[in-house]
Amino acid sequence: MTNFLVHFRSPDLERLHKQGQFWHIFFCNGGVVISQNEKDIWTVHMPLPPDTNTELLDPYEVVFKVLGGSSRGHKIDIDEILVTSAWTGHICVAEHYGSNRGQVFLSGDVAHQNIPLGGYGMNTGLGDPFAIGWKLAAVINGYGGEETDVEWVHGEGQGTVISTDEKGESLRDRIRSHVLTNDGENKCLGVEMGSRNFPSPIVLQGTDDLETPEWNEKNYIPSTSRGARARHVFLRDGDTSIHDLLGFDYDLVDFTTEGNFASSFKEAASHLGIPIATVHLPNEQHARDLGNVALCCLALEQECHVTFG
Ligand SMILES: Cc1cc2nc3c(=O)[nH]c(=O)nc-3n(C[C@H](O)[C@H](O)[C@H](O)COP(=O)(O)OP(=O)(O)OC[C@H]3O[C@@H](n4cnc5c(N)ncnc54)[C@H](O)[C@@H]3O)c2cc1C
Repeated sequence: MTNFLVHFRSPDLERLHKQGQFWHIFFCNGGVVISQNEKDIWTVHMPLPPDTNTELLDPYEVVFKVLGGSSRGHKIDIDEILVTSAWTGHICVAEHYGSNRGQVFLSGDVAHQNIPLGGYGMNTGLGDPFAIGWKLAAVINGYGGEETDVEWVHGEGQGTVISTDEKGESLRDRIRSHVLTNDGENKCLGVEMGSRNFPSPIVLQGTDDLETPEWNEKNYIPSTSRGARARHVFLRDGDTSIHDLLGFDYDLVDFTTEGNFASSFKEAASHLGIPIATVHLPNEQHARDLGNVALCCLALEQECHVTFG
């Protein structure tokens, strides 16, 4: 299919954020809206049949239609249409990356194209000249030979990868298992969300046998173990995340009715010059249970939870 892209400027946050703040929204009609700067620059993509004459499309109407999802259009104020274009997703790869005599090399989209959803096109496009650069340097400086990289399908024979015979099946199995075990660039929630400050001089070392979930780079396991990122939980109003209440430095969440623990801790912190904010949540039993707070805060008679904001 073809996709029509409209890049535009609109300060109409009231209507754009009608369903709340977002980065991407994927609508049931196949359209997408992307917030580019959290302020006034946006992009919509609208899927269309491949034979559509996109020159006849009105970009304003396209924006309204995408934002309306599967219902009628959702009008917003638009200050300026910045760019419109049409694009079609491809997955393809050139048969050769270099000329026979090794004097010309291809890089970027002309050598291989990816559907943009993974965000790999420009990344791999920039990777090519880098890879060509160090290999060329090796050849020119005399320490590199003519061997090409071993690729997945190298030497397997034309068409093996799509053949239905045993050889094709086994090659596909090898590629599948390679992809599954080397997918770190798009499955790395453990790296993105799961970093821990433990052991650390700023985190209380307890004597109990608190269990810390196993860490791995692919998965993030929300936890309130010592030094872990404070876990997200919605509060009783069903709308506010506990993260919305945390500040920039240290936060102390006090779930007790009176809130005395937080205030005494704050006093001590202020005496030591430690920037600490307190969040008093007296009626949040669910958050309190989920947070395992009793396990986390030995220093405060097992009632509070110290986190990084
Ligand atoms: C909607 C969308 C979202 C994307 N998002 C991402 C992303 O998040 N991350 C990412 O890494 N990649 C993304 N990409 C892919 C990325 O944009 C491309 O992979 C990248 O631009 C390719 O760069 P390039 O220099 O190889 O080719 P191009 O950017 O296509 O540059 C080729 C240039 O050559 C010019 N040209 C063509 N023919 C001639 C000629 N005969 N004479 C002179 N000039 C000519 C063209 O006008 C063009 O300017 C996205 C692509 C799309 C469509």
